[in-house]
Amino acid sequence: MADQRDRLLQGNIRQSESDEGAILDNQVRRLKVVTQALWQIVRDKLDISEEDLIAAVRDLETDQQQGAPTKRCYDCSKENNPKQLKCLYCGGELARLTAFDELG
Ligand SMILES: [Zn+2]
Repeated sequence: MADQRDRLLQGNIRQSESDEGAILDNQVRRLKVVTQALWQIVRDKLDISEEDLIAAVRDLETDQQQGAPTKRCYDCSKENNPKQLKCLYCGGELARLTAFDELG
């Protein structure tokens, strides 16, 4: 009886993980389309090349590999991982580094 319930629970957990995976796949696909559309607008308006974009991406990747800066909490002043949206210590508002920080 307990084994059967455990198997059902495991099945439900696997199903919800699968649903989350599908939702994330759709979100990533949508972000990719929006990013490509933004790139096309910026490229055409500013007359910049694909090589400029590739160089900028490489620069950002290098910065991230060397350790992203931390975000300071406005309330308690502690430093937090840049991926945090709220302070890990007090739940306070964190300084925003860029508009992309909220994407994680
Ligand atoms: Zn804090």
